[in-house]
Amino acid sequence: MVDKYLNDWSGTRYGTPSDVVLPSSTSEIAAFLRECHEARSPVAVQGGRTGVSGGAAPGDGERVLSIERLNQVEEFDPVEGIVIANAGVVLEDLQSLVEDRGWMFPVDLGSRGSCQIGGNAATNAGGCRVVKYGNMRQSVLGIEAVLANGTVIGPPNRLVKNNAGYSLSHLLIGSEGTLGVITRLALRLVPLPPARRTLLVALAPHCSVSELLAHSKIMLRGALSAIEAMWPDYIEEASRLRLLTRELPSCFQGKRIILIEVEGTSDKELLQMIEAFAEKQLADGLIVDAVLSTSERDALDLWRIREAVADIQLSIRPYVGFDLGMSANDYEQFAATAKERLTNVLPSARSFFFGHVGDGNLHVQVGPCPSATERAVAEDALYELLSPLKTSVTAEHGVGRKKKRFLAHSRSQADIETMKTLKRALDPHCILNPGRIFDC
Ligand code: FAD
Repeated sequence: MVDKYLNDWSGTRYGTPSDVVLPSSTSEIAAFLRECHEARSPVAVQGGRTGVSGGAAPGDGERVLSIERLNQVEEFDPVEGIVIANAGVVLEDLQSLVEDRGWMFPVDLGSRGSCQIGGNAATNAGGCRVVKYGNMRQSVLGIEAVLANGTVIGPPNRLVKNNAGYSLSHLLIGSEGTLGVITRLALRLVPLPPARRTLLVALAPHCSVSELLAHSKIMLRGALSAIEAMWPDYIEEASRLRLLTRELPSCFQGKRIILIEVEGTSDKELLQMIEAFAEKQLADGLIVDAVLSTSERDALDLWRIREAVADIQLSIRPYVGFDLGMSANDYEQFAATAKERLTNVLPSARSFFFGHVGDGNLHVQVGPCPSATERAVAEDALYELLSPLKTSVTAEHGVGRKKKRFLAHSRSQADIETMKTLKRALDPHCILNPGRIFDC
């Protein structure tokens, strides 16, 4: 069996699957699931395997269902601004295809070169531009899916307004392959903005991330398309691993760095706006310096600093990844307390803080944590700092297998029981991704 089917991006293995099937049509998937339903055979659903929650990683005896051959863009409608595409289309391929025609698919993640739009919907992926366009849920109009017993639901809704009954698409979005296998999607596009600028700023020690966020929202308004934060250890590690493709001013050292992206119709207006913003923050003493992109290439180099996360994570494997949802007001307090705790309880591990701070999403990576005990120590140390039912143990990556133990931290018992009722109704033999999110 080819190794790539044995784990997701986190690298954790959970067992040895019995086989791997690679269907190329919805009807083949329906026939396969009918057979599994009748034989009570467990199935591990796989998209691009860039997930980091262990959801796509097969357990012992599971049959791997890979969607990679279901990869056609079937239709592009320039009047409605929608595409109809198979679930196995790689995100970056879809983005390039629509950009060539003057449109943009606004969901964007660092894993764009491998993740699939079906996997993005199954995890309700967030990414860099949620602050402006929302997460995957806001970009999906409808879904076709195959249920555990082989029933095909669909075709995907393609209307912006359609209140005819329950939205089965929204039930499947974020269900992490536990309620059905997504096979086709109708996706909403936005016109490609002609101009973009990227600004990197170093925060003054007394300025909080949330303070700069508040000023960005007011001064940059609808032009603000991304705002990402990186704490000092993250930048140092990116530099140590030689991942900084662009030299940064020396005063950036030891500071929290914020990447801000704006987009609009006129580069001239955008430039005026972002320069005025940076000058005001400098004059008010909230930032100590700023670097503004001068070309598309330069902007990409600034973004690469934020996307260095994939390599940083590889350098500390086995690691524990946190993808926390919290109020922007809590970032500083949380980051300071969490860092101190981790240093005390796991002195040999390193930790890196960064995140999509425009939408209440803070990431932490801690490693190396070679033993399960060390990983549990890190998890307990950080999750104990989160207020129950007011914060999320996963803002965008999903629960999968890794966050299952902590689901009750973010969802009430009534919520969890209702999720289990839905699971039993749609997958009575619990064959689809068993043991993910919760135990059936
Ligand atoms: P997989 O990893 O294959 O699967 C993920 C889950 O979805 C599994 O439970 C699987 O069973 C299920 N699934 C997959 N395809 C289907 C389908 N067709 N039908 C039903 N269920 C299915 N995530 C974010 O949200 N935001 C980010 O900014 C982000 N950045 C990342 C950066 C890097 C470098 C990496 C490695 C990952 C990042 N991720 C991010 C995580 C990951 O890329 C997303 O969760 C992505 O949406 C997973 O898509 P995939 O196709 O790889 O799914």
